[in-house]
Amino acid sequence: MSEFLSDGLARNYVAGSWAEGDRGAVIAVEDPGTAEHFADAAQAGEVTLANALESARQSFERGDLADMQPSARGRMLLRVAREIRAIAAEGADILCRESGKTLSAARDEFEEAALYFEYYGGVADKIEGKSIPLGSDYVDYSVFEPHGVSAQIVPWNFPVSIAARSLAPSMAAGNSTIVKSPELDPIALALLGKALERAEVPAGAVSILNGVGGDLGACLVASSEIDQIVFTGSVPTGQAILRAAAETVTPSLMELGGKSAAVVFKDADIDGLMASLQSGIFFNAGQVCSAMARVLVHRSIYDDVVERAVSLADGLRAGHGMENPEHTPVISDLQLSRIEALIATGEREGVRVAAGGVRLDRKGYYWAPTILADVAPSARVAQEEIFGPVTCITPFDTEAEAIAIANGTEFGLVAGVFTRDLSRSHRVARKLRAGQVFVNEWFAGGISTPFGGVGKSGFGREKGLEALYNYVRTKNIAISLKG
Ligand code: NAD
Repeated sequence: MSEFLSDGLARNYVAGSWAEGDRGAVIAVEDPGTAEHFADAAQAGEVTLANALESARQSFERGDLADMQPSARGRMLLRVAREIRAIAAEGADILCRESGKTLSAARDEFEEAALYFEYYGGVADKIEGKSIPLGSDYVDYSVFEPHGVSAQIVPWNFPVSIAARSLAPSMAAGNSTIVKSPELDPIALALLGKALERAEVPAGAVSILNGVGGDLGACLVASSEIDQIVFTGSVPTGQAILRAAAETVTPSLMELGGKSAAVVFKDADIDGLMASLQSGIFFNAGQVCSAMARVLVHRSIYDDVVERAVSLADGLRAGHGMENPEHTPVISDLQLSRIEALIATGEREGVRVAAGGVRLDRKGYYWAPTILADVAPSARVAQEEIFGPVTCITPFDTEAEAIAIANGTEFGLVAGVFTRDLSRSHRVARKLRAGQVFVNEWFAGGISTPFGGVGKSGFGREKGLEALYNYVRTKNIAISLKG
């Protein structure tokens, strides 16, 4: 057992100290790979939240981060990156067990979190304003200032890297931040508090709370004490948060779900496509907002692609994340039931289950890698986010038809084009309704490439320099020199 979990309880990191749950409450956390209890997280309630809000406000008013020399703020973020690497082995072990993902993916997640702190650490002293010419009687300039207290709600699929994705630019810009971890796997994210503590981030500038979404999360976003909301999660929760934000008129960033399509033309490199399919829909058991949830294939190569996809899916070795298998469990029994129910609707709508389509017969929450073929674009499985290791394959005849099908859902997070034709790749990429388009490699890009959705996939962008500007607001200062 890790040092952090020496008594089996992950505490809340609030005002620079480690707090028990309100009245001793805990959230029991399971290992999805065994369906057994793993550890507990101290459950934050009203008292802990009030403490976090007060300490965040005080830290902001004191100017702990905002008035720090920007280059010193940058160095502080670099120290956080170093401390994240120092806890990565312990953290990856925890993350693997509480989320079900592979140990190596959990290590990568901590590394990605460190990279976010390095990236935004490097830009903390480059958030430059501008001077606006108004003639010789005026001096006019715009500055970027932090919002104040940023409330950030994190999902369970990549709790550590998604938290870092928002927290690092928020800190770089000088905000105080309160992070609400996901109740299904809060512990590795709680450990991030250790990295902040060891990096000597001022007490109160960042708090990390373990709490239940509809309870603590709802109270946090409804609070009049926050100045910004950053939400990553599902559409219905995003909509509920936006309703709360409307009451207090709080600026919000929404990173929501997806139903992203790869468009595969007849000249595509099929080996490359299969490698992309494996990572695109089977990595993290398909629980990725930007997963390759649909594959639209030119009819001339359709049968071949379906056959190869089926043999890929059937050949994946399932196992507990600690064994670094090719296929891992989904997060919970509830998630398994949701997948099962949606696939049943697909079968009623005439979809062909070409591979998988069943729970795996082993302890834990395993769904077989699934290929649904002959999927009508209007089928529920082609329209709704399944959030599991399930992709839908659909044939098309023309480029225009493929674009129409790809754009024919209410989402618009990412999309893909697979072709060797350079002109076609640019032309189709421009027409796809998505915040990011991958050409010939799913998940191409990285922490420096802007990411976010259109339509019900949300608004605002994370990652890259672009994200930084979500975490500041513009103030213009106009000075008359007359008289
Ligand atoms: P979810 O919406 O159920 O929960 C996300 C977070 O919101 C959790 O921390 C939860 O506790 C909290 N929450 C729940 N109800 C709340 C409420 N009423 N008020 C405030 N907070 C509340 O989503 P999930 O199941 O954790 O994550 C999966 C979803 O997230 C998928 O739809 C996926 O596509 C999406 N996602 C999007 C991105 C992105 O960057 N666009 C990244 C990862 C996941």
